[in-house]
Amino acid sequence: MSRRGLKFKIGELKTDLATFKNLEIYVGKVEEEWEEPLGPSPMPSLTEFRRWDLKLLERYKPFYLPFCDLCCLCTFGKCDLTKDKKGACGIKMDAQQSRIVLLACCIGASTHTGHARELVNFLIERFGRDYPLDLGMGVNVEAPNIRLVCGIKPSTIGDLEEVLNYVEEQIVQLLASTHTGQEGNNLDFESKVLHAGMLDHVAMEVADIAQVAAFGFPKGDPETSLAPLGLGVIDPTKPVILCIGHNVVPSTYILDYLNESGLSDSVEVCGLCCTAHDMTRYSNRAKIVGPISWQLRFIRTGVPDVIVVDEQCIRTDVLDEAAKIGAPLIAASEKACHGLPDRSEDPVDEIVEDLVSGKQKGALILDMEKVGEVAVKVAMRLAPNRRNYKALPSVEEITEEAKKCRKCGECQRACPNSLPVPEAILSAAEGNLSKLADLYDFCIACGRCESACPVDIPIISMMVKSSERRVKREIFNVRAGRGPIQDTEIRNVGRPIVLGEIPGIIAFVGCANYADGGKELVEMCEEFLRRRYIAVVSGCAAMTIGMYKNEEGKTLYELYPGDFDAGCLVNVGSCVANSHITGAAIKIANIFAKRPLRANYMEIADYILNRVGAVGIAWGAMSQKAASIASGCWRLGIPVIVGPHGSKYRRMLLGRKDREGDWYVYDARTGRKVYVGPVPEHLFYAAETKEEAMVMAAKLCMRANDTSKGRAIKLTHYIDLYRRFYGRLPDDIHLFVRRVADIPITMKDEILAELERRGWKEMEIPDPTLLEEMIRVVEE
Ligand code: SF4
Ligand code: SF4
Ligand code: SF4
Repeated sequence: MSRRGLKFKIGELKTDLATFKNLEIYVGKVEEEWEEPLGPSPMPSLTEFRRWDLKLLERYKPFYLPFCDLCCLCTFGKCDLTKDKKGACGIKMDAQQSRIVLLACCIGASTHTGHARELVNFLIERFGRDYPLDLGMGVNVEAPNIRLVCGIKPSTIGDLEEVLNYVEEQIVQLLASTHTGQEGNNLDFESKVLHAGMLDHVAMEVADIAQVAAFGFPKGDPETSLAPLGLGVIDPTKPVILCIGHNVVPSTYILDYLNESGLSDSVEVCGLCCTAHDMTRYSNRAKIVGPISWQLRFIRTGVPDVIVVDEQCIRTDVLDEAAKIGAPLIAASEKACHGLPDRSEDPVDEIVEDLVSGKQKGALILDMEKVGEVAVKVAMRLAPNRRNYKALPSVEEITEEAKKCRKCGECQRACPNSLPVPEAILSAAEGNLSKLADLYDFCIACGRCESACPVDIPIISMMVKSSERRVKREIFNVRAGRGPIQDTEIRNVGRPIVLGEIPGIIAFVGCANYADGGKELVEMCEEFLRRRYIAVVSGCAAMTIGMYKNEEGKTLYELYPGDFDAGCLVNVGSCVANSHITGAAIKIANIFAKRPLRANYMEIADYILNRVGAVGIAWGAMSQKAASIASGCWRLGIPVIVGPHGSKYRRMLLGRKDREGDWYVYDARTGRKVYVGPVPEHLFYAAETKEEAMVMAAKLCMRANDTSKGRAIKLTHYIDLYRRFYGRLPDDIHLFVRRVADIPITMKDEILAELERRGWKEMEIPDPTLLEEMIRVVEE
């Protein structure tokens, strides 16, 4: 059942005035003018795509990695679910694991939806419901996820309200299914996980197209400017305002106030996490400090004079950290009030006075105009007195602090990356800070070591001080987020992608929870760029990629163009701009292959799974939002690889290449079932090393519909990477060679010999589909 209004079709209606033919009347909403007929699944319910999900889950079976064996979600428990034991409500371990994944994805999807709702409400109030959703000349398919899922073609910001009404209702239903005594089957939980992910991409698209249109962000421009990035780009001699979070609205008011007051050159405005991306999409005055893990590091330097937080990925102890350096905190979202007094209704000067005098450590201000003015005035008043503020310990103080160390090892045990903190502290006690500095690249600045230390050694501050000289040299850049992919770009690359001549689209996305430093991500990205894959980036991953330079001092953004084309590096923008990545895959099916888009989800997902070689690598994925973003990719047939910490998401979706029966598809031309090999082999895979991730990504780009030329190109990269890292031919090539023409020409003899040894036989190349309804002619 869909929640769209009632639709009546009247063949002929005679009135006194005229005769109407083929009249369509909608009750409950106004039907937009759109020539494309409504597809089969507008605003799908929880079970509308269960059939598709079960097909995916049959092939990509959940493999559980329980992170916790207990359930303590209700007072029936806590229940021990080990060794096939059931909970008091009857739930088993597999369902419980999927249930927790669903909860995580609901949190992720609601976070983007809450953000989108707040943004849309704000923009409607400011610009009016009829403000046009103009994404530029090159973007006619402005909202591929919304059109695909909801069957709506939004043309104004007000049109997005109906989309959000639908998404919010569905998330409530999904959450309800996790209550004690509701859903009990693991595969049904998994189907709901995929539903949550699909909704998430719709909500992200709402948020990003609304802000692109209303704030004048770049509209699919491949040549956006390079935004300054890194601790070294901030001028500490000026008043510094630090903005943290994901909702750019408060930051726009700060930048506008500075501009209107002629103060833009006098005050530094910088950001952390996705707010920072969006600030640079709004103004070339804004600077990016770094990804989420730079939060504690930058605050500890004492450089920010004022900290403004909006929503998501803010350290929940930010008020304490701000207080330690004497910087007032302004909270600007109802979702993260941080215990602060609500000063939204008070006069600006009174708030400023209370913050500058230290009478209050911070203020909740929900009037955005006031946030802009207060932040600037407080920063300007405080900065002169704080200029010589010493937040970091001196070398002598570090040595003294380090001497307190009891060598208990608690810090290393607490560290998610098991970094040798005690060893570095012991060296520091002897006056050698180099080992502390060596930790910098591998530390995600989570603060767990400090929290675990029984004698309160300020480990992070010591680490930052030890790395002070290199921190000052952190002067990097990132190409500002361009937003959507243009329709013309899709037309140009659709064919080579679908035929396999561009070997794949690799999306580097997610947070900065790296197990072995961010450099690995950059190395992976560069490897695929050199091989002429299309590399798409967003969020914290996009920042990390800008944080390394080659010998000539250039970042990847300076070395590779920003077009959506082979060998190019495309930064779409903040987290919510991830919707443009799935949007690009959807647009390939629609614009290049002319598959109907409107409310036609399963056909488009089937097309992408079988034809579009796209893979996500979320190397530092951490948040619940990363989980829901990934699940939205899976439902569309886009596999995702996570880094070593990703196994904490509790389950993988793995194909079994040895089970031949799992890899049959229909040939849409005949209706016969045809073996196509394990393409793509997995939907959700955790790699332990970057080498494993690269080999897997190259492999997962292979799709059932590849032409022989395309398959040969994809096999070349897969074999080449495999051989480089493992020193031999992969042992599964015979599963991916369908015809002799698929074999890369330079490896022909060797591979033919291997195929012969394995008794390989030629395979058919069908017009592949998993959907019975896509079969055009059924064989007798
Ligand atoms: S929800 Fe079920 S398994 Fe969890 S604590 Fe309650 S009864 Fe036990
Ligand atoms: S702050 Fe760094 S060293 Fe400390 S626990 Fe976190 S990752 Fe480990
Ligand atoms: S937890 Fe503190 S006291 Fe223990 S080894 Fe680490 S730094 Fe030393």
